[in-house]
Amino acid sequence: MKNIPVVMVIFGGSGDLAHRKLYPALFNLYEQGLIHDNFAIIGTARRPWSHEYLREQVSDAVHETHSEVNENDLAAFASHFYYQSHDVTNVEHYETLKNLAQELDDRYSAQGNRLFYLAMAPRFFEQIAQHINDQNLTSTGFNRIVVEKPFGRDLASAQELNEQITASFSEDDIFRIDHYLGKEMVQNILPLRLTNPLIKNIWNNVNIKNIQVTLAEHLGVEARGGYYETSGALRDMVQNHIFQIITLLAMPEPKDLDSKSIHAAKQELLSSLIIPDEKEIAQHFVRGQYLGSDMTFAYLQEPNVAPDSNTETFVAGEVKFKQGPLAEVPIYFRTGKEMREKKNRIDIVLKHMSNQYGQAHSNNITIIIDPDMQIFITINGKKITETGIRRENLGYLFSAAEQEKIPDGYERLLHDVFVNDSTNFTHWSELKSYWKFIDAIEAAWQRENKQGKKPEQYLPYRMGPKAANQIFDSATEHWIYE
Ligand code: NAD
Repeated sequence: MKNIPVVMVIFGGSGDLAHRKLYPALFNLYEQGLIHDNFAIIGTARRPWSHEYLREQVSDAVHETHSEVNENDLAAFASHFYYQSHDVTNVEHYETLKNLAQELDDRYSAQGNRLFYLAMAPRFFEQIAQHINDQNLTSTGFNRIVVEKPFGRDLASAQELNEQITASFSEDDIFRIDHYLGKEMVQNILPLRLTNPLIKNIWNNVNIKNIQVTLAEHLGVEARGGYYETSGALRDMVQNHIFQIITLLAMPEPKDLDSKSIHAAKQELLSSLIIPDEKEIAQHFVRGQYLGSDMTFAYLQEPNVAPDSNTETFVAGEVKFKQGPLAEVPIYFRTGKEMREKKNRIDIVLKHMSNQYGQAHSNNITIIIDPDMQIFITINGKKITETGIRRENLGYLFSAAEQEKIPDGYERLLHDVFVNDSTNFTHWSELKSYWKFIDAIEAAWQRENKQGKKPEQYLPYRMGPKAANQIFDSATEHWIYE
């Protein structure tokens, strides 16, 4: 769909996300003719920038992310940007913003359509939503709001934030963004499951032994210790990205591929999410904190981190559902900072089958999400000269040229917001289930803290604490990616 008239307001227009992700993604959409002519973008932040200065920033952001740029197109694109110095805590500033939005609406014939993007620290989300409402910033066309993560820090605060936002926006107009849902290989989960009889027919608890989701980061918290202290790995990575991936893996087949059917299938699954009790949490969950090395700080030495902090930089755990194709199948996950390499992958481990050759290896299906994108299935065959079974990988790969063409998650998801497709955004009912689960783990860890129990320490640039190798349901299970 082309040329959707809109005035977009980015709260946090001078921030890291806007610079590194949003401006380049918007430019790519512009270059493909997916937004054109009738749009204006207002960047807001506290700094006293001019329109011209913001346009330079936008232009820099595009140059930093593109090896080749059509300068005429970039200049034309940047001319649609306007800057409004705006403190989100100051009510009067919303009046100025509203006037500018109206003026630009007239100039660009934006037909009263508004898109608000909250690209700021989450502590401001509620206040911005409240002022959009009180100061009547919504207009006569469509009014959509994109909310960055994290959406709340537990179920109660997420509920409060949601109430504030739903005062001005209906659920259909709220786009809770999770950029993992824009990633190529995450979007590939359903086609993989649904279009291959080879895979579709084994996608059940008879054939699948367990699933393992690993989101490993190589970097530490860097300058973001202050933010990280309020979050930790569980809230930062599991509540959103890991749960969305798990939901796509375990949900029943949707009746159709439209947004309604996908969300209905997700909700059906999540209504059977098992919330682990205290004993299960002690058995199947591990939290960790990275130690230092000659060259690097331990987490507890990072700037803005409390020296006795219990915040976890690593977590491993288990998720199970009562229903769905993978009912009762353990889905293990782990995520952490300062792990051996940056690697986001899913391993689907099939059950062993006894046969005339003795126990051959299990067939595993592996989906590598980042940094390379591929799927491979391990299969067994004969060894060439000796007797016995050897294992090889069958691969689904992209060429280098294809990898180049794959759009960034933000580009896809921004386009979805423009065309009003909420398939790959988090519905409120999903979020509620995720938070219930996270709250149970956090509560158990709070109790542990009171007993003086600390997160497990782990050496930097390895695979996390050793205790994470003991979270499995049975002794025959282990991490496939080691
Ligand atoms: P940031 O700190 O770089 O930017 C915050 C922005 O808010 C800046 O423009 C700042 O000037 C502005 N700001 C701060 N106080 C203000 C006030 N009182 N009034 C008006 N403006 C004010 O943060 P970020 O990294 O861009 O992150 C923004 C959001 O995006 C967060 O919710 C974060 O969790 C999410 N996010 C960021 C990334 C990323 O790569 N940076 C990735 C995923 C999600």
